[in-house]
Formats: sequence, structure tokens, C-alpha cells
Amino acid sequence: MRPSFLPRLVNGPFDDPSLFIPFFFEKRAVIFDLGDIYSLSPRDILKISHIFISHTHMDHFIGFDRLLRLVLGRDQDLYLFGPENFIKNVEGKLAGYSWNLVENYTNQLILHVTEVHEDYLLTKDYICQNEFLPDSKEVKHAFKETLLKEPSFSVLTRVLDHSLPCLGFTLEERFHVNIIKDAVAGLGLEIGPWLAEFKQALFNHQNPDSEFEVKCGKQQQKFILGDLTKQIALITPGQKISYIADVAYNESNMENIVELVKDSDHLFIEASFLEKDKDVAEKKCHLTARQAGLIAGRARVKQLTPFHFSPRYQGQGHMLEKEAIDAYNYALKQ
Ligand SMILES: [Zn+2]
Ligand SMILES: [Zn+2]
Repeated sequence: MRPSFLPRLVNGPFDDPSLFIPFFFEKRAVIFDLGDIYSLSPRDILKISHIFISHTHMDHFIGFDRLLRLVLGRDQDLYLFGPENFIKNVEGKLAGYSWNLVENYTNQLILHVTEVHEDYLLTKDYICQNEFLPDSKEVKHAFKETLLKEPSFSVLTRVLDHSLPCLGFTLEERFHVNIIKDAVAGLGLEIGPWLAEFKQALFNHQNPDSEFEVKCGKQQQKFILGDLTKQIALITPGQKISYIADVAYNESNMENIVELVKDSDHLFIEASFLEKDKDVAEKKCHLTARQAGLIAGRARVKQLTPFHFSPRYQGQGHMLEKEAIDAYNYALKQ
């Protein structure tokens, strides 16, 4: 099975947090947090459509400038999500530069910035040609957990506590369509862009009794969608990828995180300190590797990647990893 999403941390575990999630079947990506992203190629950065920021401590948001620098002058809609005060933080960043001359750009770059509160969202748009001055007053919408809903996947969040509101994120694929290549060949068809349309039809709830036309080179063949699905596709549960960065270890965080990331295929979770330094972790509102592992085990995630290690452990990354994995295995058995 080829996964639809290929998450990877942009940097090593001691460097700035950022989880880049490119789409396997599309030239597109989303990103969780924007720490230093210089090691991400411009080609990859330009794939990003949606940006989810856990909180605006510098190590999670300094990459905003790099991203903006690359998209400037392009025809693009960028969607940014962040916690309380996010609109003020983005406006502060934009106010840090001079924008005369941008009115000459012919392409239209728009930033759609959404601030996430416990039960509502505030959205404001910024158009590059208008010198990024806010386009209108902010718009308020009621909200519960879901930040983004597309036919094939959603991104969900919870407001967590890190001495300030901090967002945890989960990307959930609705279901996964596996194409059986031999069956495609058996019908005399070739692998091609029509498969993307076929998947789209399934995600868009197209009537299974409706006609689906396969255009494959010069060939055109008509099928009943439901019949074709039975013959060439295997539908399996979708992927679930979760990201938790910068949280205090307390009851309400634990409960919220476990609910959000439950049964994830892959959880990326901060593990800043060793358990022996848990008093420091507590003071800084971070997790220890053991605490991160316990949460991952309780949530029954399938794969765990601890990251965001404190620089005090340089050269001892394996100890943080081991502590997290041991705690994860222990919690799985409970
Ligand atoms: Zn941090
Ligand atoms: Zn932080």
C-alpha cells in the first residue's frame, strides 16, 4: 500500500520543530509549525497550501519569513492557522517590512489567517497587492475541532496548555483507495491521471450506479463506477498523522491529546527533557521523554517519533528516544 501522506520532520530532533507533510498523489503539502525551514527546498516549500502553527514561540514560527519570501509575487492562496493572538502575531510580522511597489505585482497572493479559540475561529484576509493591509474586519465562525475539511482528508485540533494556548494537530485521511495494478492491466487499461479522477469520484460520494469514463491515451472506455471500484480498488482505513509540540504534563492536556491522537498511524510528539530533569520540564511547561511515551502508548498510536530535544542533551539523543520508546511499550501493555 502506498500511503497518501509522507510526513517528515524538516530538521533533526535538536533543531527547530516543523513537520512537512507532502501528498504522494498530488504536488501539494501541508506543514505543522514553521521553525527554521532553510533545509526544505524551495520546490517543497512552494507545495505548501495550509500552515498550522501550534504556538508562536520563535522556534515554531521563525520560518514564516522564509515561506513568505518564496511565495511573494506568486498567484497563490495560503491558509494559516494558529492559536489565540495569532492574527496580531502575523500582522506584527507583516508590519516588519516595507511593501510599497507590491501593487505592481500582476499575480495575486492572499494570506487567509485564522485564529483558533476554544469554540470559535476568527479569520482575516491579507492581499499582497494591498500591502498586506487587512482586507476587511475579521470574520467569526463557530467551531468544534475541525479546522479543514476536504473530500479526502481533514485536519483537527485541540487547544492545549503550554503556559499559553498551544494547538495539537491531527491529519486524518477519510479512507484509503488502493489501486490493484494487475486488475487495471487485466481490463486492458494503463495507469494514468484518470486514476486520480477515479479516486476523486469516490471521495466526492459520486453515485456508484453512475457512469465513469476512463480516458487513457487515445482510448476511452465507459464503466459503472461501482463495478469498476469492485474490480480495481481495495478500500482500507485512511492514514492518521498527529503532531504535538510544546505542552505541559497535566490531566487536561493528557485527556485532550489522547482523544485527538487516538490510534494514529504516526505520532510526532515533543520530548524535551529526560525524566530525571522532570522538575525543569514542569517549570518550562514541556514533556519529558517518558511522559511523551506514556501518552503515545495510552493513545495506542502505531508509530512514535519523539522530537524537540533540549540542547542540554546534545550527543544523548538516543537516551531520550529510548526513554520515550520504553514508556510507550510499557503503556501499551497496561
Ligand atoms: Zn518549542
Ligand atoms: Zn514553546
